[in-house]
Amino acid sequence: MTTTLLTDVELLDADGRRGDAWIILDGDRISAVGRAGEAPPTADRTIALPGRTLTPGFIDLHGHGGGGAAFDNGIDEIRAALAVHRAHGTTRSVISLVANPLEQVEESLRVVAELAAADPTVVGSHLEGPFLAIGRRGAHAPEYLVEPDPVVIARLLAAGGSSIRQVTIAPELPGAIAAVRQFAAAGVVVAVGHTEADEKLTREAFDAGATLVTHIFNAMPGIHHRDPGPIVAGFDDDRVTLELVLDGVHVHPSVAQMTFRAAPHRVALVTDAMAAAGGGDGYYRLGSLNVTVQGGIAMLNGTQTIAGSTLTQDAALRCAVDVAGVDEALAIEALTLTPARVLGRADEWGLLRVGYAADVVLLDAEKQVERVWAAGVETAGAGGPDAAGAGVGAA
Ligand SMILES: [Zn+2]
Repeated sequence: MTTTLLTDVELLDADGRRGDAWIILDGDRISAVGRAGEAPPTADRTIALPGRTLTPGFIDLHGHGGGGAAFDNGIDEIRAALAVHRAHGTTRSVISLVANPLEQVEESLRVVAELAAADPTVVGSHLEGPFLAIGRRGAHAPEYLVEPDPVVIARLLAAGGSSIRQVTIAPELPGAIAAVRQFAAAGVVVAVGHTEADEKLTREAFDAGATLVTHIFNAMPGIHHRDPGPIVAGFDDDRVTLELVLDGVHVHPSVAQMTFRAAPHRVALVTDAMAAAGGGDGYYRLGSLNVTVQGGIAMLNGTQTIAGSTLTQDAALRCAVDVAGVDEALAIEALTLTPARVLGRADEWGLLRVGYAADVVLLDAEKQVERVWAAGVETAGAGGPDAAGAGVGAA
């Protein structure tokens, strides 16, 4: 196995920043980490990286595509979209599926299962639809939303097997609390989202086994002082992680900062990116729906409904630190260790430590991605010297 020594670099992970450091990647693992003054073991190649910062690879719990390609459209489009996000620092991805006809969702689940078995950077699938509140459906087609019936759930679990990593459920739907138990018992991370649930019902869902909130603040009631709703229930429960879409559009930077203050180690920065991420303005599809992207903001045609984002995780980092004023180690934690913990992989993903995966992102002084190693495989970053345009095609 080839060993690579990255030296003369600053390390930044959830434990903070360490200057003048080195790290050795050995195949798909980190085999040694040290500071200047400690002699590193010999390696097959050495790369000096003065003025740069190395972070763990970003883990995206929630995304739908990028570079003009959508995760619902089969294996080639999934691969194309993942390559775009890889160039922006994402090294492990959960593949989110929108509401579609049941047979089509089953087929998508089978495709993701096949891909996850072959590619360690594909974590599995996220059923964002079809168990959503119709009044809070966002960019999910209303005709494909269904109640969380145990027979439907069994069909989906059969199609996706253990590759189904997450499901979003509106707890007020008939049978929803039993569905939370059914999915949790199958090892699936259950998220509350796209919901009208009040605080009490949201707490019931958490007690039944839900541990995540799908893009907190979006597609749910806001905080009211006499009716706190799902947001306060999520803030208040230490068992629960809060997905946040930090693109400057989905939530105000001040609200993002408040979220990090209220739940500092329980925020996961996700993209919820649709096909336009890493692409440009224009016309796109999200599932069966038409979306127009203008000024980087994706809207369902003919509505004022935000249809996913055009975010990449490096941009979320810049927005968190440079715009919202979030501490850099906390922001990095929200992109790395926290999502790893949600997935039950915090012992091997999300830190720059010996034994952890060789998932690392090299950032320049402006937090642009220069190079990426995912499971030890190196690719060019979207902001690096070898990058072509915005990173599209940087395979
Ligand atoms: Zn989504």
